[in-house]
Amino acid sequence: MHTMALCMFMLVSSRLGSLNALEKCRYGRLWRRYGVAGRLPGADQLGRVAARLPARDVRRQLKKVYHTLKRRKALRPASHENLFALVVDGHESSASYRRCCKDCLTRRINKNTPQERIQYYHRLVMGVLVCKRFTLLLDAEMQLKGEDEVCAAERLLGRLLQEYPRAFDLVVADGLYARAPFFKTVRAAGKHVIAVLKDEGRELARDVLGLCTTLTPRSLNTETTKRQVWDIEQLTSWPQAGMPVRVVRSLETTVVKRQNGGKPEARTTQWMWVTTIPARQLPTEPLLDIGHSRWCIENNAFNELVTYWHADHVYKHDVNAILVFWLMTMLAYNVFHAFFFFNIKPPLQNRLGKYRVAACVRADLLMMDVPARLRSP
Ligand SMILES: [Zn+2]
Repeated sequence: MHTMALCMFMLVSSRLGSLNALEKCRYGRLWRRYGVAGRLPGADQLGRVAARLPARDVRRQLKKVYHTLKRRKALRPASHENLFALVVDGHESSASYRRCCKDCLTRRINKNTPQERIQYYHRLVMGVLVCKRFTLLLDAEMQLKGEDEVCAAERLLGRLLQEYPRAFDLVVADGLYARAPFFKTVRAAGKHVIAVLKDEGRELARDVLGLCTTLTPRSLNTETTKRQVWDIEQLTSWPQAGMPVRVVRSLETTVVKRQNGGKPEARTTQWMWVTTIPARQLPTEPLLDIGHSRWCIENNAFNELVTYWHADHVYKHDVNAILVFWLMTMLAYNVFHAFFFFNIKPPLQNRLGKYRVAACVRADLLMMDVPARLRSP
């Protein structure tokens, strides 16, 4: 089982993208170092093992990376308020009209039309710790049949609170999570929550927008963005939450240049967050930074995992195998980023960039020697 786990880890860290590609690399130097050169398991065997490998074994390794970094004081909060934020978000890892398994989620496309079809998909929720120099991927949970994303996120959060009780102070999430049960779960654990507030007919949002017409906003401009901000506490127009909440609204204007050499154009976007954390604990400006940090899970985590780490590749269509490979990829991502940010000096980091360093690591992993029997005399 150890060899299998090693192979899976090598597969995702070398970003090969398929089990068959791994089979072709059985004479790599690194395999010899681990004593498995030339006798790597086949693609089918690896897939079968991934379907049976307990996800908790990979999660344990993720936890070890966290504790190692923590012990070496490598993890610093991104905000000046010394608060660690955990970003929780969902991701659809695969979708197909033809391939399905017994655990596939389903949805109807082109509903009630002659073209109506059933699509099969898998979705997972990931928890990411936002740190000063990088994002650490902590854990993931599959969304199961009959439940929605927030339900899976609550299960993930329950485990994170148990396994990483002091790792984070705040949970940051998108508009889907602005629900009373989620807020109550987070508060019951002694943490605070920040969620995007959408203004789609919610009484709370309507109240805030009404109040904003009577209150003077603060200007909290950055180098590139003009921000008009309202920060309102003790709002009671969301009684289901069971506690007064705070809402921060920011109108952000940025000058963007139109494509094809067009004139610069000012674009304004509205942001609103609903939160349980009081202003004395987290003032307006850092709250805006943390609120926007939710995008780091999109930009730094999901995008990179999918684009460069082949995280969405279905190595084996089985819900446990999908989760195990995803967790393995998270582990490889964390180890690589810890190496890049803490073992390579900053000038060299800038000169080489992550992708050239990754290419060097990959080359080292896959460096092939020609087996003796194939060498020319
Ligand atoms: Zn499936």
